[in-house]
Amino acid sequence: MTTSRAARPSYHPYIAHVTHVRRLSPHFVRITFGGEDFEHFGVAGPDQRIKVILPHADGGFADLGQHGDGSDWYDRWRALPVAERNPFRTYTVRALDRASHRIDVDFVVHGDEGPAGAWAAGAAEGQQLLLVGADERGGPALGGYDWHPGTARRLLLAGDETAAPAICAILETLGAEHDVDAFIEVPGADDALAIEAPHARVHWIARGERDYGAALIDAVTAWTRVAGDTLAAAAAPRPQELEDIDVDTELLWDSPTDAEGEFYAWIAGESSTVKTLRRLLVQGHGVDRKRVAFMGYWRAGQSERME
Ligand SMILES: Cc1cc2nc3c(=O)[nH]c(=O)nc-3n(C[C@H](O)[C@H](O)[C@H](O)COP(=O)(O)OP(=O)(O)OC[C@H]3O[C@@H](n4cnc5c(N)ncnc54)[C@H](O)[C@@H]3O)c2cc1C
Repeated sequence: MTTSRAARPSYHPYIAHVTHVRRLSPHFVRITFGGEDFEHFGVAGPDQRIKVILPHADGGFADLGQHGDGSDWYDRWRALPVAERNPFRTYTVRALDRASHRIDVDFVVHGDEGPAGAWAAGAAEGQQLLLVGADERGGPALGGYDWHPGTARRLLLAGDETAAPAICAILETLGAEHDVDAFIEVPGADDALAIEAPHARVHWIARGERDYGAALIDAVTAWTRVAGDTLAAAAAPRPQELEDIDVDTELLWDSPTDAEGEFYAWIAGESSTVKTLRRLLVQGHGVDRKRVAFMGYWRAGQSERME
């Protein structure tokens, strides 16, 4: 039987087995997954997001369509009694190797407060979970990423450890034609990761005992003082209003695709930190909001919302 391309679901849960677990640093673990369908896994951008569906305590999964079409996995999930719903969280594809059917995901290990971090801390070869991603048999993956620099060559990347996988993957796509500063706040100095980015200035900032985001905000603020010309050239043509987003109840997210310019900033991580950094650039320095992508990846004190 042949399957037409259009008949393929755009997103569905892939069955994934842990093939390798590597502790990269005290707070990062790289988990390599193997999956027989991964040659079709859609990755459209370097910060490609996916859903990681975690097993129940007994290792089991509800029927989310993973053995069939699966395009209605979310409807199936919602239709289940709450106790039968497998938890899921959002992660980044750190690397995809279609030829060997492998996907790497870098998990932050942050104690046992959340199901994903706790699962990653104890992950072992052979364990199974589900990764929701696009299926390129339905056509090339088009969405699910936020890196839209256009023709910009002066780039600012800022984030915490949850954004480190995306920032590292983005940096690996950039070349000598780009002028890049990347600021990544991580729990400790020994969480700075090895990365192939010879053309970028990569600043790993250890949080230590400070609050989430405080060191990152200081570092980016110091950068704005020496990047005045860059920021002035990226100024909005008219004064801009920023809506006051309540990070406890609203999603802090915008990744504009509709402006060209020499400068582009990508900011992701803990929501209140991201909000402060966006204000710093857009209100503090008048940078055109269309040149600033900002994504609240998580919120201190709150679990990721699944509905
Ligand atoms: C697009 C996108 C891409 C992401 N990519 C990655 C990635 O590649 N790697 C990665 O590790 N994370 C990534 N994240 C962040 C990840 O989804 C969250 O950290 C998520 O909350 C982890 O789920 P959990 O089950 O461990 O904790 P939850 O159940 O969601 O939260 C439990 C508690 O832990 C706190 N918490 C959650 N994450 C952290 C943390 N990192 N440090 C300290 N406290 C925390 C919460 O505030 C809450 O109090 C990404 C998020 C988004 C939206």
